[in-house]
Amino acid sequence: MAAAHRAVSPLPMGPIPFGPGEQRLTDVAATLGMQNLPAPQARNSGVSFDGRPPCCGNNNCFPVCPIAAKYDAATALPRIEAKGGRIITNAVAYRVETNAQKKVEAVHYYDPNRTSHSVSGKIFVLACNGIETPKLLLLSADDKNPRGVANSSDQVGRNMMDQPKLIADIEMSEPLWTGVGPVQSSSIMNTSQGDFRREYAGACSVWKTWREAHSEV
Ligand SMILES: Cc1cc2nc3c(=O)[nH]c(=O)nc-3n(C[C@H](O)[C@H](O)[C@H](O)COP(=O)(O)OP(=O)(O)OC[C@H]3O[C@@H](n4cnc5c(N)ncnc54)[C@H](O)[C@@H]3O)c2cc1C
Ligand code: SF4
Repeated sequence: MAAAHRAVSPLPMGPIPFGPGEQRLTDVAATLGMQNLPAPQARNSGVSFDGRPPCCGNNNCFPVCPIAAKYDAATALPRIEAKGGRIITNAVAYRVETNAQKKVEAVHYYDPNRTSHSVSGKIFVLACNGIETPKLLLLSADDKNPRGVANSSDQVGRNMMDQPKLIADIEMSEPLWTGVGPVQSSSIMNTSQGDFRREYAGACSVWKTWREAHSEV
């Protein structure tokens, strides 16, 4: 398993072990010359790490890992609070305010009653994702920032890229037991790198996401 692991740089631990269904798919794919490889993931594999236990294969990663083996923001928030940070929930930012030097000095947000509040600070990180972050910057246009905040290039909100894909379901003649063991995302990488990519711009990654984890397909 470790030899097949596609690591660009050293990872802190080995791959999550395959469940029986994933192993079966891997074996069958190999007979066709395709290599199904484990993907790097934010779940602890075999060891405790960063205050979280190793994955024990509950097969319930989404939406919440019951033992917190999987990293998600919920593991980071208590640490922020322990250092004096304050988490403000149900707050929708609607305007970024800059000073005369065009440096951000406040963010305005609405609470659920649509009452406006603001937070000030020295450093701001906007992390509202690829659509909402540019939207917020553009919504914040004012006299000082006629094209929106941080948009002297006029490129904010343009050139969005997507990940077009084609999904195919495979019908199996035997049970795969996908609900047993860790939920795994692995992929057949033959066409996303190497010889195939020398000839083709696009890649064909076969992702097995256990969408039908509770049916025997
Ligand atoms: C269906 C799907 C499958 C994916 N699968 C994978 C995968 O397998 N592997 C992978 O690496 N990536 C995957 N991605 C991509 C990955 O999930 C995203 O790139 C990543 O979550 C982006 O993180 P983020 O913190 O930038 O934004 P997000 O996780 O989207 O967080 C943005 C947050 O900002 C909040 N927000 C937005 N606007 C405002 C506002 N005005 N005021 C206050 N809060 C606001 C949102 O509520 C949200 O909580 C997938 C994405 C999708 C949609
Ligand atoms: S399989 Fe998913 S839900 Fe289960 S222990 Fe591992 S990370 Fe957590």
